[in-house]
Amino acid sequence: MGDVLFRGGSVWTGNPEEPRAGAVAVRDGRVLAVGDHAPDAVGPGAATVDLAGGCLVPAFRDGHVHPLHAGLQLSGVPLVGATTIAELTTRVADFARAHPDLPVVVGKGYDPTLAPGGCFDAADLDAVVADRPVVLTASDGHVMWVNSRALAAARIGAATPDPPRGAIVRRPDGSPMGTLLEAARELMAPVVPPPTAADRREALRRALDEMAAAGLVWGLEAWCGPDEVEAWLGLAEAGPLPLRGELALLVRPDRWREQREFLLDARREAARRGGGQVRATTVKFFADGIIEAGTGALLDPYTDDPHSHGLPNWEAGELAEAVAAVDAEGFQAHLHAIGDAAVRAALDAVAATAARNGPRDRRPVTAHTQLVHPDDLPRFAQLGVVANFEPLWAQRNGVMTQLTEPRLGPERSAWQYPMGALLRSGSLISFGSDWPVSSVVPLEGIAVAVTRQTADGEPPEGWTPDQRLTLEQALAAYTTGTAHQAFEEPGTGTLVPGARADACLLATDPATVEPPAVAGIPVLGTWLAGREVFRA
Ligand SMILES: [Zn+2]
Repeated sequence: MGDVLFRGGSVWTGNPEEPRAGAVAVRDGRVLAVGDHAPDAVGPGAATVDLAGGCLVPAFRDGHVHPLHAGLQLSGVPLVGATTIAELTTRVADFARAHPDLPVVVGKGYDPTLAPGGCFDAADLDAVVADRPVVLTASDGHVMWVNSRALAAARIGAATPDPPRGAIVRRPDGSPMGTLLEAARELMAPVVPPPTAADRREALRRALDEMAAAGLVWGLEAWCGPDEVEAWLGLAEAGPLPLRGELALLVRPDRWREQREFLLDARREAARRGGGQVRATTVKFFADGIIEAGTGALLDPYTDDPHSHGLPNWEAGELAEAVAAVDAEGFQAHLHAIGDAAVRAALDAVAATAARNGPRDRRPVTAHTQLVHPDDLPRFAQLGVVANFEPLWAQRNGVMTQLTEPRLGPERSAWQYPMGALLRSGSLISFGSDWPVSSVVPLEGIAVAVTRQTADGEPPEGWTPDQRLTLEQALAAYTTGTAHQAFEEPGTGTLVPGARADACLLATDPATVEPPAVAGIPVLGTWLAGREVFRA
């Protein structure tokens, strides 16, 4: 690869010593020189990229995302953005009419706040599609809304018991209403035909292109079974990917011991077939569910349901044992931890692992890190735990006011997403999108991390304003923070000499606009190790 000179705009290097420059020179995929002397560093045949008055920044890295599922979602009913139940059912009706031969109508991404308590009624779907099953998954991925044909096809009736770690929402007479929580969604598996291997590769390809267009060059595929692993490796074998992937291999509480072979196989196959583009060195644990569905694990009971502490997925001792076991094999732990009891269980598991296996640079990650008991804040830095946040969630929107705050009450509601507090305590944080749960565009999350406001600018002083980040801190969480999470070589996520030339070009310097406007800055180009992977 020849020399490339980026010039004609501004550069944010991500290096606190020298954050600003006017040009960057790249050779063989690495930054060669930064600043006024960069043009002299490149050879005479260097290609030039005109920054066109925009701002070159280190490319973004997504610490928790589901590209394959996002790609598959793009082929179902488009539910994202609908603001009423009527709008959702109209979209379902239109999609069903346009696809008369599909045996099942599938869609993902509806807003779970549109029905009271998140409980949707099969009858609303029956009114628009009665001839075949309709199976819709909420944007949070933890809840399903289905029609009566789907319930019948899955043989779910009044006599069907709730499965372990799941619930069937019922009418007063015990009959299913049409909403399935957590593990109850698995009852729909026989009804929804799985995508083929080719469908998956195509979906993943589409998703990776979309991520590159958002300025991303790396992502942690946060939930991988054998099918996800095969889709990534199949695509990686077919040629260069626009984005590098780390696969988080999902283990389950009831069979993690038998899954050891799967973990070792996946890691070995990724090293063999991934062409340096895909690694599988992370193991994913779900410590709990989500607060909005009453399944997040809480230390004190739910405010709206004093008998419930939520649904921890693991018995605490078993979680610690499983984390220690995969750690001993050299894997990195990625723990979905939403409620304060789940966060504590995750920290306890990490502490037990360090005690059992001895000191090592292990960089365990808590994903989402929604509700942290104040007593646990210092433990992140002490244990070297990376707190991963989805910054777009740190706002007081409809989900927060209707589904979260009533369940937590005011005191605990203010403990959520403590990004500022964790940085002040010396902990490392990383950002992600959890796409397709929420937008994959990093700049949208960065704007919320800085403002803690909704898109309408509410509240004016920011929700939980102590937790707001500076623009530089927010950019760092999406670049160097996730590079640290990913065990990248030092310097990755910055534009300094010697670092890999992962960069993206923003149409406007984010430091020159009001923070809310950062969300809408167009991405004009993305480079992975100096190779252009997206150009607007
Ligand atoms: Zn996720």
